[in-house]
Amino acid sequence: NEYPTHDPEWVKDMHADHYLQSWSKQGGRPRVITGASGSWFWDSDGKRYLDFQSQLVNANMGHQHPKIVQAIKDQADKLCYIGPAMGSDVRSELAAIMNEITPPNITSTFFTTGGSAANEIAIRLARHKTGRTKIIARYRSYHGATGGTLSLTGDPRHHLTRADMPGVVRMLDPYTYRLPTGHTDPAHCPVAQGGPHLEELLMYENPNTVAAVILETVVGTNGIIVPPDGYLQSIRETCNKYGILLICDEVMAGFGRTGKWFAVDHWGVEPDIITSAKGINSGYVPLGTMSVSQELHDWLRETPLPGGLTYAGHPLACASGIAAIRAMQEEDTLNYATQMGARMREELAKLAEKHPSIGDIRGLGMFNGIELVKNRETREPLVPFAAKGADAKPMSDMMAFAMNEGLYLSFYSNVIRLTPPLNISEEDMMHGLEILDRTLEIADRECV
Ligand code: PLP
Repeated sequence: NEYPTHDPEWVKDMHADHYLQSWSKQGGRPRVITGASGSWFWDSDGKRYLDFQSQLVNANMGHQHPKIVQAIKDQADKLCYIGPAMGSDVRSELAAIMNEITPPNITSTFFTTGGSAANEIAIRLARHKTGRTKIIARYRSYHGATGGTLSLTGDPRHHLTRADMPGVVRMLDPYTYRLPTGHTDPAHCPVAQGGPHLEELLMYENPNTVAAVILETVVGTNGIIVPPDGYLQSIRETCNKYGILLICDEVMAGFGRTGKWFAVDHWGVEPDIITSAKGINSGYVPLGTMSVSQELHDWLRETPLPGGLTYAGHPLACASGIAAIRAMQEEDTLNYATQMGARMREELAKLAEKHPSIGDIRGLGMFNGIELVKNRETREPLVPFAAKGADAKPMSDMMAFAMNEGLYLSFYSNVIRLTPPLNISEEDMMHGLEILDRTLEIADRECV
């Protein structure tokens, strides 16, 4: 069949009838996106949208960055695929770059097809290395959609697993805007301090049965939660005390999103394993990483890596990763994102003076969010946790309004995530914030 792929209505029909869309009821007829450049994308009607999400928080260098596109083209001409056990210039170069930009103790990397696959191998490795089974993960987390990683995920989507992976233990998050009942001061709250809360769990669980703690260094999907200073160090110390490995999931937080290569760099913490994906190559080709400490690498010289993938170290993915990281270095993207992120929070603070629905503004670098409430005093959330459908209406109405105005935003529960490309121009950022300002009037109407 020759298909009328140029016809947007046909594209929508096929999307509705034959394409299965992630995490959704099927049958939707979405906008058809025909192109993108920098911080913008546009649809088949020629309507342009400012991408304040960087798609799934992955287009860190924006859309169609010429250096990344060129690197993929060049690599495609040279060598599209070669099995993971073969030597390849791009594989070795990206592995060397990872050694250079990860924390000092991290020396070697397994390349995957995305974040889920990276976390999956990370927990298996932790279990093999320690000979223990349990993994401690947090409630406000998303670690992926595969069997193990969805079980680790605390977000209610993990209820979909039906047969959860055994051995998952949950801890609470250092969510200082909403501390556990009875607490008002993060400095005196064991959950916000980290180590004391973990110690308490370990007392019940038996530390000798716990292989690893996995956490998003800065929580992304579940509400942009930045840990208080000292939190990660405290978790690290407790892990050290009991021989538990620390896995930092930087799939969203890594590669400049917080203004550093990795969010752990803000606190100088050295995890045993760091996982990443998304921003490593702005998502142009599927790519993820599991990077391990020298100690784990030395152990892996004696013991086979307990996992593998046909596309581990895919040359097109590695070439795009190298180009993206080099572009970030050449364009000083980390410093730029730090400055623009701070600027964004300043502007958000001005919006908070106008909009009673803004309960909290938080973030690090270009990883920002606003938490919306019905009432600032009581902090009652604008919509309930993980609300869907009619319950989420003011949030979904805001997204629809913004989209209509040409601003692509995202939310989870009562938090709007603001994660534009790291290299967004100041003018574009201000334009997006101006639309956000008008969008927030919808939330203000819910205030009591
Ligand atoms: N970990 C975190 C923190 C994520 O945000 C995501 C995706 O959103 C994943 C893991 C899963 O990555 P992927 O969808 O590439 O498998």
